[in-house]
Amino acid sequence: MIPYKIYLSEDELPKQWYNVRADMKTKPAPILDPATGKPVTLEQLSGIFCTELAKQELDNDTPYIDIPGEILDFYKMYRPSPLVRAYFLEKALDTPAKIYYKFEGNNTSGSHKLNSAIAQAYYAKKQGLKGVTTETGAGQWGTALSMACAYFGLDCKVYMVKVSYEQKPFRREVMRTYGANVTPSPSDTTKVGREILAKFPGTTGSLGCAISEAVEAAVTSDGYKYVLGSVLAQVLQHQSVIGLEAMTACDKYDIKPDIIIGCAGGGSNLGGLIAPFMGRKLRGEADYRFIAVEPASCPSLTRGKYAYDFCDTGMVCPLQKMYTLGSGFMPSPNHAGGLRYHGMSSIISELYDEGLMEARSVEQTSVFDAATMFARIEGTLPAPESSHAIRVAIDEALRCKETGEEKTILFGLTGTGYFDMVAYQKYNDGEMSDYIPTDEELAKSLASLPNIG
Ligand SMILES: *Cc1c(COP(=O)(O)O)cnc(C)c1O
Repeated sequence: MIPYKIYLSEDELPKQWYNVRADMKTKPAPILDPATGKPVTLEQLSGIFCTELAKQELDNDTPYIDIPGEILDFYKMYRPSPLVRAYFLEKALDTPAKIYYKFEGNNTSGSHKLNSAIAQAYYAKKQGLKGVTTETGAGQWGTALSMACAYFGLDCKVYMVKVSYEQKPFRREVMRTYGANVTPSPSDTTKVGREILAKFPGTTGSLGCAISEAVEAAVTSDGYKYVLGSVLAQVLQHQSVIGLEAMTACDKYDIKPDIIIGCAGGGSNLGGLIAPFMGRKLRGEADYRFIAVEPASCPSLTRGKYAYDFCDTGMVCPLQKMYTLGSGFMPSPNHAGGLRYHGMSSIISELYDEGLMEARSVEQTSVFDAATMFARIEGTLPAPESSHAIRVAIDEALRCKETGEEKTILFGLTGTGYFDMVAYQKYNDGEMSDYIPTDEELAKSLASLPNIG
């Protein structure tokens, strides 16, 4: 029998990250300088990011990148993460499907984001920087980055979307406990923040706006660079540890996933989980179905456009070709479940556009139905983001029950939901509703796309 929890040994931990771009025939489109419309050079990108990370961002060809020893040591504090066989859930659903999940919530930050945070902090330290700046929405990325910065003795400046700053005081305090400096965004500490405040007085902020402030803070302070917790190719590469561990564990126990499911905000956990499996598919060695799950209230893959767009509201970051709803898109205020970024990783976007993976959007009440069911049956209280993947894993398992197929399903359980209890409270009080943007609303935010091939 397959154990309830498969833990690899320290020796079996991946020693290299995998860069799926190396196996893609059509590479993601190059990122462009918003001023000239030309591909960004390493010099330009190094103005914003640490040089080594800028190199990783532009590297479409190197398949395996050695994980530096200091990062491997840190990974050992909380990795390997378990691959769990959801026997209880299978039984409750009465499905012939076999369900596995890779659980990334076993660290204080409570999510997979630490896998990239520690890598980015390492390269910043190695470059001799004083510190890094970043944005955070719900707070998981900011928390992960403050842990990583504390480990390497770096200063950490976090611009936190104002509504979360006010509604998630505990996340804020975890960050401050790890020594981070947390500013609610938009703020009057940056030029772009002051402009946004003047244009939208009383705004509670957005991720795109916090990114603009963090980038400005980095490029205007000596010894600081900007770091980002999702969307970028380098982040997907760091997150490949999830997929590499999962694949080693699957191979060891002869588990052959048919369907691999991940929630998709900017695409980093999904990109990391599927990377090595996608590599096999791209090389013609195996076949899998990959499903990206996004909220119906922020449906970039299922209803967005594949086009060049700004990554931030202030339009200071390079342009990226991606599935996007337009950089001015803001999910409805009743959306509680995270995954609210307007765009999607250019790697995921290209794979999806080529038909190598599928996407599905789900409504938040059905996501919380799945979250609650999972918490009661499997014991772990999932993050709302992760619960999008749980929803579709359950749907696929129920389909197997109808057809009698014994499919093997693997999904990413990206984190725990202890800091998301306001959202659970809304659900428990029956006050959660679904909002799906109309075509007119999407057309409006898509109208702001820059006019580039
Ligand atoms: C940030 C986050 C996500 C979404 O980000 P991706 O980059 O799409 O992976 C999903 N789950 C959790 C728990 C998160 O913190």
